[in-house]
Amino acid sequence: MGLTKLQKRIGFIGAGQMAEALARGFISKGVVEASSMIATDPVAARREVFESFDVKAVSTNLEVVKESDIVFVAVKPQYVGPVLKEVRGHLTDKHTIVSIAAGKTLSSLKEAAGDDVRIVRVMPNTPCLVGETASAMCLGGQANDEDAETVRTLFSAVGRIVQVDEKMLSAVTGLSGSGPAYAFLVIEALADGGVKAGLPRDISMALAAQTVLGSAKMVLETGKHPGLLKDMVTSPGGTTIAGYHELEKGGVRASLINAVVAATNRADEIS
Ligand code: NAD
Repeated sequence: MGLTKLQKRIGFIGAGQMAEALARGFISKGVVEASSMIATDPVAARREVFESFDVKAVSTNLEVVKESDIVFVAVKPQYVGPVLKEVRGHLTDKHTIVSIAAGKTLSSLKEAAGDDVRIVRVMPNTPCLVGETASAMCLGGQANDEDAETVRTLFSAVGRIVQVDEKMLSAVTGLSGSGPAYAFLVIEALADGGVKAGLPRDISMALAAQTVLGSAKMVLETGKHPGLLKDMVTSPGGTTIAGYHELEKGGVRASLINAVVAATNRADEIS
């Protein structure tokens, strides 16, 4: 829907869950052709997954570097340094390195990849798997506005992405990185409430999940403050204000704030 088709070749070092979610998203939204992508993984089964949706899969990381302009480093954090050191002699000014590894700082990426390399660090989240990621990126090394635009185009195909200073990435991790777990808890608890009130489990779960999805869409699409949207659905002496009062008594608002801050602090500790 109005997305730019990217005239660049995309490579994935590590063809795991996140790489697959990204590659499938790019193809399904038409932002990159399958024939413009290549992936590498030591595990044959992972290469077969990529081949199953027509992306060339190879077993050496160098081949990916040679055949791509944008190189996604999508291995587990502990392998990022070794992988970048392995390929650094083959990185040229055509390459943009995009690391999605949790906790790997721009300075550690630069140290492993080399001083002249253009590096973008992205913190995605799991709804990437369904084309609804909330991601953040920061630029490092020699990365420029064109690199930012390229990454923005790619991630806009699988959700949303914002650009932040690296010092904010721990807070991003605490909010959107860890946030799906908080939203799952809310959905599960709402569904439990429906069951307690007499609904069958499957119906209750579907209503709870769709209610959270629809409410999120209303915030994003109307641009209205959630407090205003809440006021619009709470009629005087009605059902919603009765339920809402219980949430306030239970300290839900403070719990969510504390959850984001605790996860942010933990991200700082481990990065
Ligand atoms: P994953 O284990 O599914 O994928 C990693 C893949 O890398 C595996 O298939 C593995 O075989 C392959 N691999 C291992 N060593 C390799 C090497 N030397 N060269 C090439 N490939 C190699 O992991 P994932 O969940 O896709 O996570 C990938 C990255 O994304 C991690 O760094 C993680 O921090 C980051 N991330 C993941 C999530 C998430 O929710 N899954 C969210 C944010 C960030």
